[in-house]
Amino acid sequence: MVKIHDISIRDKLVLMLVFTSVLVLIVFLMVFIFTDVESYKQRKANSLVGLAHVIGTNSISTIQFQDNDAATQILSELQNVAPEIVHAAIMDRTGKLFALYSKPGADGLTIPDGLKVNKYLFTDKELYVSQQIFDNNVIVGTVFLESDLSELRDIIRTKYELAVPLFFVAIIFSFIVALVVQRYISNRLLALVATMKEVSNTGHYKESIADNGKDEISMLSNVFEDLMKQIMENQRRKDEFIGIASHELKTPLTSIKGYVELLESIEDKQPNKQFARKALENINKLEKLIQDLLDVSKIQSGQLELNLQEFSIRNFLDDTISGFQMISKTHLIERQDQFNGEIIVADRQRIEQVLTNLLSNAIKYSPGEEKVIVHSSTNGAELVIKVTDFGIGIPQEEQANIFERFYRTRDTSIHISGFGLGLYIAKDIISRHNGKIWVESQEKGSAFYFSLPLMIRQAAPDV
Ligand code: ADP
Repeated sequence: MVKIHDISIRDKLVLMLVFTSVLVLIVFLMVFIFTDVESYKQRKANSLVGLAHVIGTNSISTIQFQDNDAATQILSELQNVAPEIVHAAIMDRTGKLFALYSKPGADGLTIPDGLKVNKYLFTDKELYVSQQIFDNNVIVGTVFLESDLSELRDIIRTKYELAVPLFFVAIIFSFIVALVVQRYISNRLLALVATMKEVSNTGHYKESIADNGKDEISMLSNVFEDLMKQIMENQRRKDEFIGIASHELKTPLTSIKGYVELLESIEDKQPNKQFARKALENINKLEKLIQDLLDVSKIQSGQLELNLQEFSIRNFLDDTISGFQMISKTHLIERQDQFNGEIIVADRQRIEQVLTNLLSNAIKYSPGEEKVIVHSSTNGAELVIKVTDFGIGIPQEEQANIFERFYRTRDTSIHISGFGLGLYIAKDIISRHNGKIWVESQEKGSAFYFSLPLMIRQAAPDV
């Protein structure tokens, strides 16, 4: 069943306006028809009572002289004067029928029980009138009239025939008005929702949505704008803290690293040498983290600069992959090259940082596997490098988020250590080179791609 919450505000507004105007129209038409019918009935009853009175006055002498024929003659005149009269009767003072007129084709005369003297009575199809005849304040008889109400039924039918098309015209008209009115309200709300979505997708809290109005939508926009300002301020403070903290940590760590390296090189005795080596391994991890934090802070303040240089793709891959293979004991890195000896212009260190990050992720997130494939190809316009692993994969709904700062997928965040910074930095480095980075991942394994525009220059046969 459709819940009221699930209907959009736009549709709710249209429904509300159409429903209200239709309701108002129905009430209006009902009141209009009812008062019209009631006033017709009143007029009809008055005119019949008047007629009965006239008949009574004219019949006084006929009753006194017991002249039935004259009385019947008076009554039969009704055929011309009031053709809607079905029965007309004159009773004498004892209540005995004195004269009767029945419209041709009419049934026999029946006087309803509820009809009181000198009153009228409406039934579904007829109006009955009973009127006493007075002569010098003495009752000499009673006139009884029965009138057909087909004219009233015709009037009601005409009213309904008019009301039905009017009803549909009102629905269409109110629908059009509702569409116009809702646009004014819902467009502003939709614009606000679109900005909120945009902000939550991109994390760009600078979008302005402030509104000069004073209504609830303007209030909502302004509250949201304030909220975004607060988030931006918090982010600024956090970035500032990360920048300062990583700078402050870097200097002592470099010094510690120097001493531990010295210790490791001069120490011959075991297990001391082994301890120094272990300490160095952890110092390197710490150093990598601090370096990442420094990079993030540079990206945030727009200070990550590229040191562009020309270099051979093959040389670059040889150096980076073989260097990485030396420290990876669990996985074999398989290379698939599909390029000639192209030269590329890029920041070699930074691109190496990207590839190293993808390789270390490929290994980190494929525990128990033995292989990672690096496929490199050029198509004349760009170099595309693809790093494939056969590990845990990335759920479809999280793939768009993994390039965000500090984002880690639900599956990995508990079991595998990491800070969610590597891909964020890689994305920034690649986009500064006018390249692209993306991921494809199904149930098992992931393939990370990055592309870099090629400079037109072709190298001589590879060195
Ligand atoms: P880190 O690995 O330090 O957490 P990254 O920015 O390199 O940070 O990666 C962000 C997240 O993306 C990881 O936490 C992980 O959830 C997911 N991820 C990255 N590479 C892979 C991969 N090869 N296989 C599965 N998940 C991955």
